[in-house]
Amino acid sequence: MKFAKRMDRLGTETAFEVLARAKNLEAQGKDIIHLQIGEPDFDTPPNIVEAGVEALRNGFTHYGPSPGLPNVRARIAEEVAQTRDIQVEADNVVVTPGGKPIMFFTMLSLVNAGDEVLYPNPGFPIYESMINYVGGVPVPMQLHESREFSIDVDEVAAQITPKTKLMIVNSPNNPCGSIIPRDDLERLARLAVEKDLIVLSDEIYMRILYEGRHESITQFPGMVERTIILDGFSKTYAMTGWRIGYGVMPVDLADQMGRLMANSVSCTAPAIQMAVMEAMNGSQEESYGIVTEFKKRREVIVDGLNDIPGISCQMPKGAFYVFPNITGTGMTSRRFADDLLSEASVASLAGEDFGKYGDGFVRFSFANSTENIEKALERIRAFAS
Ligand code: PLP
Repeated sequence: MKFAKRMDRLGTETAFEVLARAKNLEAQGKDIIHLQIGEPDFDTPPNIVEAGVEALRNGFTHYGPSPGLPNVRARIAEEVAQTRDIQVEADNVVVTPGGKPIMFFTMLSLVNAGDEVLYPNPGFPIYESMINYVGGVPVPMQLHESREFSIDVDEVAAQITPKTKLMIVNSPNNPCGSIIPRDDLERLARLAVEKDLIVLSDEIYMRILYEGRHESITQFPGMVERTIILDGFSKTYAMTGWRIGYGVMPVDLADQMGRLMANSVSCTAPAIQMAVMEAMNGSQEESYGIVTEFKKRREVIVDGLNDIPGISCQMPKGAFYVFPNITGTGMTSRRFADDLLSEASVASLAGEDFGKYGDGFVRFSFANSTENIEKALERIRAFAS
């Protein structure tokens, strides 16, 4: 078959490929420890599951409005207004199957061929893939290990040109678990206003934060009017497979994204939207418990990695990933990740899967039991020695 030219520009998320490789090895009888995964190892809290099942029984089995059920949009707006201390209404919200489509829809509705888009590197691989797919020019904003994996705002300022249309920020960040300090966020906001940039603020990990409070770029003057907040339920409520997330944005853009929904998936499944009403309204105990558990595992994995010669690892401030520097082992990150899986049965992701500045690092997820993390650390130690 002759594919459309644009397919050459589409990237992927290696996590799914590594998962397939690991499953293959498991089928051959290998005992694999999965530290490549980007999802909580917990099950969805039972009250949320019950609400979803109940909604199905109550007839939420039909199409719904493309941008989301009105009461769900209103409840999300309330939640976002409260957590970011900003003013937004139901009309600003578009509910999507996962937070991921908001990236795609943002590019499709805003980026013309040749427009430059600033994005974090190392960063979530889909940003770069989507920018390329729509014909935009990806401009990597380097996250520096020496700055606790944050950006250098002066460097970013120098990267802005008359063609820069959009800037993507992701705090807490995947893969580094880093955050952008408040002062730097404020400076970025000023730059965005001054240079008339639109900002996509991926805040999917905002509730998985181990220190301080979440800071959103939308809190600064002039930002609500030019920012798309991406958020969702996958990570906080262990709902990755349900596929539900949302974007919060200016109303005219929300209308455009509603049209993209109508043209693609029609709507997000209404019963699943009802389940997240329970996630937002019900007890938050379980989701707080998940964060407390992650915090304990974070210490175990960071201490364990720093104890291995050739590896140095910073303490992540949010999300459930560590991004250790492995250059001291003498291996490239690709070789390290590949051989660690085939020789030591530990699955991880090579840093360069998150962009060129990820070279020399490996991403481990600590969304696995402490017991498995400890077992993995022993294997990594033996492998690296
Ligand atoms: N943003 C970041 C930074 C992520 O790591 C992910 C998932 O791994 C997403 C967005 C998308 O989450 P979902 O589509 O499952 O809601």
